[in-house]
Order: sequence, then structure tokens, then C-alpha cells
Amino acid sequence: MVGGTGVRSEFVQQVVACARQLAGREPGQPTPPPDLGPGARWYPRSWRRVAGTDCFAARDGASWFLALAGNGTAWEQFAGEVVAPGSRPVKLVPQAAAGAGLRALFPETAPRPLPADSPSFGCGDRLGLATPGHLRALAGYQVAPVLAQQSIRELTLTGRTYGEVVDAATWSVFQEGWRDGFGADGDHLKTAAEVRDLLAAGATFITLDLSLCLGRTEQCPPMPAALRDDAGRCWGGADTTLTIETADIERFWQVYGPAFPFIEEAHRLCEAARGAGGFDLEISVDETPETTRPVDHLLLARELQRRGIGVTSVAPRFPGEFQKGIDYIGDLETLAEAVAQHAAIAREFGHKLGIHSGSDKFAAFPLLGEAAGDRLHVKTAGTSWLEAVRVVAATDPPLFRAIWAAAAAGFPRARQYYHIRTHLAEVAEAAAIPDAELPALLDQDAPRQFLHITYGEILRAPAAAGGTLGDRLRENLAAHEERYAAGLEAHFRRHLESLGLPARCQVIGDR
Ligand SMILES: [Zn+2]
Repeated sequence: MVGGTGVRSEFVQQVVACARQLAGREPGQPTPPPDLGPGARWYPRSWRRVAGTDCFAARDGASWFLALAGNGTAWEQFAGEVVAPGSRPVKLVPQAAAGAGLRALFPETAPRPLPADSPSFGCGDRLGLATPGHLRALAGYQVAPVLAQQSIRELTLTGRTYGEVVDAATWSVFQEGWRDGFGADGDHLKTAAEVRDLLAAGATFITLDLSLCLGRTEQCPPMPAALRDDAGRCWGGADTTLTIETADIERFWQVYGPAFPFIEEAHRLCEAARGAGGFDLEISVDETPETTRPVDHLLLARELQRRGIGVTSVAPRFPGEFQKGIDYIGDLETLAEAVAQHAAIAREFGHKLGIHSGSDKFAAFPLLGEAAGDRLHVKTAGTSWLEAVRVVAATDPPLFRAIWAAAAAGFPRARQYYHIRTHLAEVAEAAAIPDAELPALLDQDAPRQFLHITYGEILRAPAAAGGTLGDRLRENLAAHEERYAAGLEAHFRRHLESLGLPARCQVIGDR
């Protein structure tokens, strides 16, 4: 051990040797191999040289470090442990202490507003370990990534702060050498206080969940005169026509009117924190019991426009069910019709169509892509967690069985947070399954939903040898990081392919 951070001395020697080899090369030239020794590696794509200081990411077991070699301006920006003195000293900075410094040094590791002209894809990462796989999939398509995407519910259940979520995204962007930017989504925020907190913690994309306001007639402001004047108007998009009746306007205002003070305040907070144009704002009503009528989307868009509130996307509740982690449930023709209407409205008003719970909707992806491919913002989250559990199922059956038992114990509690159709009785047989068949559980709807919603219970469950199952899971994923990344890459490529998103030309050798 060396110094106070308890870094293994073998690892220190390996990193120092790596730094010495890099000192004799220029970035862009062939690099030493990633493998540094048992359980240790460095990440060639992370290597940057800033005013004489080499910066690169390295890992020892389940601990990641920023290595700095050479005393220059970058060196001064990080507090860490000097592990090798001399004319070209080496410093190790634990990952958790590197976020702010990386963002200051490499602006592309800081979240930023999304490009207006591109579809976007949200990749929630409950463990902070999925981003490499996400980026490798997205790199092949013309789609902007949203990486640090977490709801308050997920933050509570995973015991993470939003600042930690942003730091994890920053780290992975640095580690992967991703230069094309990303957004950070404070997802499903229901109060102005939540908006304020997540902006302060680094969110650039704010998703407003209106469910606490909708239909609260006792707090409904007076109907604006301009809205009433829309009565009798006929609105026509590319291939859809809507007539706005007086009853539509009245119903719209009763339901949505009470949400406008919240929307206005959130918009003010975003502008104060990020400046005009320095953020993305999404209005989501996907977790409401009623299907969103296109005329409500239209009136919402008109009222937002009148108030000068620009939104990046609107996420309606579509007909049928977008349940977590499984395919679309419902009639595809009805869905196609609704998506076409909502997409026409989104296109007309210049925002995107938000598709929440967007993972694994393979039956619906082709029609979503066809109707709204240029204007999609798709969100996924739990499917990346399930891919993590799949890695454990394949590599550590006893750990997987411990995870399964924790999920069964916590399932009744977890079910209060999520709307799913799976019941405990449907997954009762899994204990008898032989090891080799465990990964296949992740291909079945009931086990997927069972493991999908119980992540909070699983992560905090005590592990047999001390610590938590969350600790064991992170260790497993660190040891199998390339397997996890490859699984995610394939899984997300399948999503992007099914959506028909255009491929991106890459400069050969760029990545
Ligand atoms: Zn949602």
C-alpha cells in the first residue's frame, strides 16, 4: 500500500511504467496494451496530453483512477496522491474526486444542451458503469446521447446523488475518449425544488413531470383569452387535421391549466441557471392514467409558444402500454395513428416527441422511427441494468441467485413504485433452474420485470461475505467490463437499428 488512499503498490508500479512508455510517444501513435496485470488495466482511448501532462484512466479491481504524469497546468487542477516523484512525477486521483477537474480541463466531458437538429437517445445508468457500452452503440448513428439520466425515484432507490450520476457520465466520456457531447437529464421532476436541486447538481436537460398538477382544478389559473380564441380553428399538419372545439379547450384547461405555474417557474429556474438556450426542457405526461389526446398536445404546444417557453420535447402518454423492460403492449395500428398525429404536432412546433420507457419496444420501433424518426427523443434506463444482471447470470451463478432472492424479498415493496404486470407467482420456479440456463431468464418478460423494478432492494441487500449485493455486482461488472460493454453495444444497436435511425459516417481510425 502507498499513502493514505490505499492504492496497491503493484498497481502503482504498473501505472508508472505505463506513464513512462507514453512519455516517449505522441497521442495518436500506437499505445501500450490495455492490460497492466491481474485485475488492472488502463484505457488507451482516454489518453490526452495537456501542456506536457499525460492524462489517462486506469482501473485496479473495482477502483478507477485518473493518472497524471508530468507536472504541468493539468497537474495542478487535481488533488490526488503523488505516487512517483522525480522530473516526470505521477499522480493518482480517485475517480470520485476527478469529475469537476475533468469537466474544467476537457469541456466535452461536461454535459451540454443537445443539438436541435438531431434525434436523441437517453441512456439511464443506475450503476454508473453502462456508459462505455452506450457510447459504443450510439457512435454508429446520427443521434445525440443523454447520459446522466436519472429520476428522483431512481436516485432514491440507488442511494446516489445527481452529482455522482453526472460525475460517472463525465468519467466514462473521458475513459471512452468521446468528443461529441452529451446531455444530462434530471428526469421526471415534479416540483420546482427538485428542478432547482438538479440544475445545481449539473443537469442540462430538465424533464418536468406534470402528474402532481394535472387536473387540480382548485389551483387552476383563469383561462387565457388567446386560448379561448382557438375555438373553432382547424389545425392541419403534414398529414393530420384537428378541429379545436370549445369543449376541447375547456377540458384542456381544466387538466393542464393547473400545471402552467409549475412550468413557468421551472422555465425561469432553467434560464437563471443556464441562460437562454443553455438547457433542454421536456414536458412529460407519460405517467398519467389517461392517453394524451393529440388536441391536448396541440393546445399545450400553442400555450407554451404564446408564453415564450421553448421546449425540447413533449412526452405524451400513448395508447397501449409502455411497460418497463418489455415490448409494447397494445394495438400497433392505433399506436401508429396516434404517433403520426403527435409527430406532426411536434414537427410543426419544432420540438421532439419524447418516448419514455422506450427500451425493448421492438414491435413499436419501426413505426416510431417511420413517423417521427427525425424528431425522436427516446428514453431507456432499466434495460441497461438488466444487461448488467445478465452478465452476472453468465459469470457468477451464486451471486445471481443471491440477487434473485433479494429481488423476491423486496418485490412487494418495489411494486409500489412501478406499474408492471408481473406477479411474484410467475417467477417462483426460477430457483430450480440449472446454472447454464440462468442467462435465458433475462429473455423472458416476467423475470425481466421482476429484476427490473427491484434494483433498489437488490443493491442494498447485505452480501454473504460482508458489504452489499451492490458492491458484489459492481465488482463483477468491473471484472467483466468488456463483456458488459459488448452486451450493451449489441442491445442498443438493435434499438437504434429497429428505429431506423441513420448511420453515422466515421473517419476511419477515429474510434
Ligand atoms: Zn416517463
